[in-house]
Amino acid sequence: MHRFLIASAMLSLAAPLAAEPEFSPARIKADVAFLADDLLEGRDTGSRGHEIAARYVATQFEAAGLKPAGKNGWFTPVALSEATLGEGATVTITGKAGATTLAQKVDVLLSPSHSEASTTIDAPLVFVGFGLDDPKYGLDDYKGLDVRGKIVVMLRGIPKGAPDEVIAHLADQKLANASRRGAIGAITISTLQSEKIDPFTRRLAAAGRPGTTWVAADGKPFDESPAVRGSARTGTKGAELIFAGARRPLATVLAEADKPGGRPKGFALATSARFAFTSTERRITSPNVLGMIEGSDPVLKNEIVILMGHLDHIGIKAGGGPGDLIRNGALDNAAGSAVTMEVARAFASGPAPKRSLLFIANTAEERGLLGAEATANMPPVPIDRIVAAVDLDMPLLLYPFTDVNAYGGDHSSMGEAIARAVGSVGVALSPDPQPEETIFVRSDHYAFVKQGVPAIMLATGFANGGAAAWKSFLSTNYHNVGDDMNLPIDWQAGAKYARVNYLIAKELADGERVRWYEGDYFGNAFAPAAPKAKRPKP
Ligand SMILES: [Zn+2]
Repeated sequence: MHRFLIASAMLSLAAPLAAEPEFSPARIKADVAFLADDLLEGRDTGSRGHEIAARYVATQFEAAGLKPAGKNGWFTPVALSEATLGEGATVTITGKAGATTLAQKVDVLLSPSHSEASTTIDAPLVFVGFGLDDPKYGLDDYKGLDVRGKIVVMLRGIPKGAPDEVIAHLADQKLANASRRGAIGAITISTLQSEKIDPFTRRLAAAGRPGTTWVAADGKPFDESPAVRGSARTGTKGAELIFAGARRPLATVLAEADKPGGRPKGFALATSARFAFTSTERRITSPNVLGMIEGSDPVLKNEIVILMGHLDHIGIKAGGGPGDLIRNGALDNAAGSAVTMEVARAFASGPAPKRSLLFIANTAEERGLLGAEATANMPPVPIDRIVAAVDLDMPLLLYPFTDVNAYGGDHSSMGEAIARAVGSVGVALSPDPQPEETIFVRSDHYAFVKQGVPAIMLATGFANGGAAAWKSFLSTNYHNVGDDMNLPIDWQAGAKYARVNYLIAKELADGERVRWYEGDYFGNAFAPAAPKAKRPKP
């Protein structure tokens, strides 16, 4: 690290000062206004509105002078599988007292299958605590349990206490764990805490959207839990039935889970469950948009830095009714897309950095990071040539930000590189101000992390009015009709944000290659063979 700092100081003395490109608040405003227009109907994946948005981004990339870098010119079509549950889906719980049937959207929420038109499973239930499964990391909720051919019952969320990014990742793997352990079904029950924050009844009201996954190269819908043929969530009524006659009563288990660090141990339950449901699958394609600026160094140009943001949003609100129903996604994520385009223009107008830059407008982020998963799993170049990925998702351009957050930056030397880049223009890099939101696993960068690429999501920070703006946006306009051009968007902040991202991408493309830190969970798990960097002493 130290050596690099000296080298970069010498470089900046020797190099002539290049004029910094201009970052235009007006251009960013115009791009957001187009992408968030009502005519694009909220840019839902697979919709005409999203297709128009993708054409628009390609046009802007072309005008800036980027090279098309998709499979099909500017576009790489992402094949997606949408599965919808048929009417009459049920989960029946059977215990000593008899059988009780829980109906879909009343007492239970089943997920549709992407691979079976009709599913019936009937198996004993085994409680597996929170279902976290990484014994090397000290989490072994499956220890001593035989779940082969059974249906697991797990608590929602993570143990109470300081959330961290490793636990957030492990929580994202719950179904994969169940599948690896041989379970054929899974039921998630609420904790006392999750009922307070996000009640099951609210989940019921929000249900109905199809389940979506990306289609792998073999033509099959990608499934990280292939053994699990059915999964469901249930509320209090279901949980009480499931725990009838249990070795430990539900109330005791939930009380233990409600204590800080509480992690109830699993055990075989005295009940069984029968899932019966039908699913219909339909295939759609939706494009990622890719544009490239080739690096200037004859060797390093083979390495790629990705700057990306998702272009899709969640479309029109179901249910009809009077008033505005279009969820335009001005900040989520027309803003990140506009900033990505502005940074692309800035690089295209000046000398290229040493490494190549790949700009991507991702599709299907809101369906589960699917456009990014497709790129990370089927990359246009061998994955170890992608040195870093910066994801711009929902920059809150509602106040004159003075700091930024790089979600995931602590796992690699990427955080240091970003701190240097933003520090040069007086912007601070602050630690994660909302760890309870587990943003690290909630946006497109995470798809690249899981393929071993150091990657972060960058967002405007909590200083200088940020904390209040984030709190208010998340509780009112986020994923709602109010995320539109009526928001008091600060376009100067947009231009500043573009400048900051230009400097970050430049640092990543010109500086020493960023590396996972020695001993870091994600580097060890996903890039075990890659050289590591020493974590600086605090
Ligand atoms: Zn979103």
